[in-house]
Amino acid sequence: MERVSGWFYDGRRFREGTIGWDDDVILEVRNGRARNPLATGLIIPGLWNAHTHLGDAVVTQELTGTLEELVAPPHGLKHRILAKAKDEAVIAAMRRAMATMLRTGTTGFTDFREGGLKGLKLLYAALATMPVRGVALGRPIGLEYDAREVSAILRASDGIAVSSYVDWPEDGIQKLAAHVRREKKIFAIHCSERIRENIDQVLDLSPAFLVHMLQATDADLKRCADARVPIVVCPRSNAFFGMTPDIPRMLRSGVELHLGTDNAMINVPSMLREIEFAYRVARMNGGVAARDIFEMALRGRRLAEPDASGGIRVGERADLVVFDLPGGASGFASLMRASASDVSLVVSGGRIWPGRAATIPRSARRRRRN
Ligand SMILES: [Zn+2]
Repeated sequence: MERVSGWFYDGRRFREGTIGWDDDVILEVRNGRARNPLATGLIIPGLWNAHTHLGDAVVTQELTGTLEELVAPPHGLKHRILAKAKDEAVIAAMRRAMATMLRTGTTGFTDFREGGLKGLKLLYAALATMPVRGVALGRPIGLEYDAREVSAILRASDGIAVSSYVDWPEDGIQKLAAHVRREKKIFAIHCSERIRENIDQVLDLSPAFLVHMLQATDADLKRCADARVPIVVCPRSNAFFGMTPDIPRMLRSGVELHLGTDNAMINVPSMLREIEFAYRVARMNGGVAARDIFEMALRGRRLAEPDASGGIRVGERADLVVFDLPGGASGFASLMRASASDVSLVVSGGRIWPGRAATIPRSARRRRRN
């Protein structure tokens, strides 16, 4: 069994102790420090990036222009570049984005994958070699419903996620969502990012979650809370286009919030940077507790594991991140300031990233040389 020691998050607070795992399951959670841990420090469950477009990592140039000019289908910059990009280039870009996620403590993500069935195949090709978990949500090539295309996408994915209600013909998006529902897969959608959309029409599609909701009214947010539909906020992406989510107001409405990094061409998919920025942006609107922001960075996991406790417990998946940061009562505050250089160990599904050699403790290395 492999072990780490220090201050670990039990789902409510940070406790001092030791975590042990074998294969991909946590088998031991106990008080006291282990004698030869792989790492020591502040220990959290792997973060979950609740909203990505990893394929966008293939777009590397400096970006200018509006939200519509850059990301709106079908003619926004990213769609034009993705349509022309070579398969290998898109796969390599997605793999690079996944490596960034692992390095910065993210062990799972939920991706909106463009490009129909083929787009999904590229995502799976990138995923195959990376120890990170991806929930893959595909989408039809065009903005129209075709039952055969949707069946094929659903067979090859966890569900379907589309740009927004207003981009689609009403009849088409309703048929699309109903199809996803019949197959018991995930349907997700961006909502009220640039303009306020009709929340009742959107909730009638039975989405598993919504993304953005920047232009939502208090009543819209309350409707989501009542319908138990979580909202993913992506503050760095919003800020790029001159907007900020009012996180304290959203939390007051009772809605469940998740955190995501959105387009990989706009933001590097580091949840540590998203956490820091979300905490600051929340302070601009009155502030929320560090723990609330941290929870937003964990909760997306429920999409893949509805029964996950959210804390480090026996029986949970061995997705662990160890930081060289102060623990105890300061644990949550430490995480708001954490950066990639504070990460001392990442374990994803029991596998150590980036691989054994780099993570052998200094003491062991010394022993070997002697
Ligand atoms: Zn998005």
